[in-house]
Amino acid sequence: MVERCDYVVIGLGALGSAAAHELARRGHSVVGLERFELGHHRGASHDTSRILRHSYHTPDYVRLTQEAYHDWARLEAASGESLVTVVGGLDLFPPDPAIPMDDYVTSLDEVGIPFELLTVDAIADRWPQFRLPPGTVGLFQDRGAIVPAGRGTRVMQQLATRHGAVLRDRSPVSGLRDLGAAGVEVEAGGATYRCRGVVLCADAWTNDVLAGLGQTVPLTVTLEQATYFAPEDPSRFEPRRLPLWIWMDEPSFYGFPCYGEPTIKAAQDCGGPEADPDHRTDEVDRARLALLADHLATTLPGSGRPVRSLRCHYTLTPDRDFVLDRVPGHESVVVGLGAAHGFKFAPTFGRLLADLATGDRAHELPAFRLDRPALTDPAYAPHWLV
Ligand SMILES: Cc1cc2nc3c(=O)[nH]c(=O)nc-3n(C[C@H](O)[C@H](O)[C@H](O)COP(=O)(O)OP(=O)(O)OC[C@H]3O[C@@H](n4cnc5c(N)ncnc54)[C@H](O)[C@@H]3O)c2cc1C
Repeated sequence: MVERCDYVVIGLGALGSAAAHELARRGHSVVGLERFELGHHRGASHDTSRILRHSYHTPDYVRLTQEAYHDWARLEAASGESLVTVVGGLDLFPPDPAIPMDDYVTSLDEVGIPFELLTVDAIADRWPQFRLPPGTVGLFQDRGAIVPAGRGTRVMQQLATRHGAVLRDRSPVSGLRDLGAAGVEVEAGGATYRCRGVVLCADAWTNDVLAGLGQTVPLTVTLEQATYFAPEDPSRFEPRRLPLWIWMDEPSFYGFPCYGEPTIKAAQDCGGPEADPDHRTDEVDRARLALLADHLATTLPGSGRPVRSLRCHYTLTPDRDFVLDRVPGHESVVVGLGAAHGFKFAPTFGRLLADLATGDRAHELPAFRLDRPALTDPAYAPHWLV
């Protein structure tokens, strides 16, 4: 038997849940298919917190962050839940940083987002918790915020369901066929679905599904690790006393003030080894934990001892830019991929993916196209730190 609907969304992490919500909100019939249970820990959208910020390395991303704040506010209004906790964001650039500060300064300036540049002394005056190398410059943007990962994803799923979307967990998609004018056929868990269009948000598993269309995207999956530290005096690390911060060098680290529990969460960006998302370990990587703990003990003394670590994976494009596009030659299939910095944009992805799938709006984001050189030129050299 073939089940018919307007759109099938494949993958119900943050991006797919947002797309299912947005399509259902616009009155379309939607089936969302997730291979594991909803809220599982094998993907990239679980755990407590993610960073939402204006500071980015290109004006286009900064403009997109303006949409992200707006879309999170819409989500808060629709759900009645508080999701955005503004704590301020501090990007820390040591002398001769691996990540150029100018890109951030000029991008924020061009879009007209206010920020402050602070010396080590000015940072110490405001946040005496930091102990930074001489010459470090802090770029402070006061709207830097924390959004909840697992809870935010769940809220989008609840809203999708409220608008009539049918979300099926334990439904691995095993086949995708483009039927041209007759739509798209999707096989999952013994069922067949026929729809007008598909939104594919399978992140690390994107290529498994795209194989049905004979397509592939050059993606690298890495196994990452975040660790929670317990300070002896958590009151010093509460949000009103400490911003979130990013160490803009190689290695690059980032961290959060206490959020929902008396711990500090910190991690390295792009520090992990390549991994197979189907066979990844949950064991703590002691060497990487030691590197992070050492960095924190030096730059944020008093942040305490590590109490737990968790693993999750990054799915990286060679240029670290998103994918948000129709599959060339298979225009009824739309792909969304967050390139390991997409959570802050999840509600925005949902809106833009729905625009693309329904044809409500033309594509306005060339940097995220599937036919860009970073995804089509085999000689393109990957660079992930931004
Ligand atoms: C440790 C860590 C920290 C991060 N920090 C930030 C941050 O601070 N700010 C930020 O903006 N971003 C951050 N990111 C990135 C962000 O979390 C991800 O880009 C985003 O969550 C990806 O969402 P997704 O829905 O695309 O992927 P996922 O959450 O992995 O969802 C993909 C889903 O597709 C399902 N699926 C796969 N194949 C199939 C199939 N065949 N059939 C059905 N379902 C299938 C999977 O089971 C999975 O549930 C971070 C990521 C990690 C891992």
